[in-house]
Amino acid sequence: MAKKEKLTKPTATAIAVEPVLGCVIVSKSLFLETMEAIEKQYKHDQKCNTAFKTLLPNDYTSGYDNHWVNNELIKYLQKAMNDEHAESWIEYFLWELDFGKKYRPGSVIRKDKTHIDLSNTGKLYDYLIEENKSKCLHPLSELRFWNDSTVECLICGHRGLTF
Ligand SMILES: [Zn+2]
Repeated sequence: MAKKEKLTKPTATAIAVEPVLGCVIVSKSLFLETMEAIEKQYKHDQKCNTAFKTLLPNDYTSGYDNHWVNNELIKYLQKAMNDEHAESWIEYFLWELDFGKKYRPGSVIRKDKTHIDLSNTGKLYDYLIEENKSKCLHPLSELRFWNDSTVECLICGHRGLTF
């Protein structure tokens, strides 16, 4: 007879920004901080580009540009928030809604006709969490497979038949 494993729920651990060998949990404050930095850099670059065009209208060599770094930072956030796909909410928020400034109630609507509030970065974070709340997005190495065919995540505690 197979030895039964003891099925106990792990004690809840506080969510912290903690590197777990390639896996970083992005807290709301880290998300806000990073998005603020992306906006700051983007706005600063726009101002500099305008100034350079005025000062050096025929200069195509100095190439002041930070979009490579900014785009990579956005990619990190998209990966961390399970938002790395063609319909990325983060990209929509940044470029279509101009960092939330162009948001109007009704800009984004759920299937059940309720509004998705994307008026600021905090609301965006909340929505991304809501969209993924029933999913575990942690790496396979953090999953524990139990005898009753359920799978449990050692990071978020999510447990179920499928992940
Ligand atoms: Zn998990």
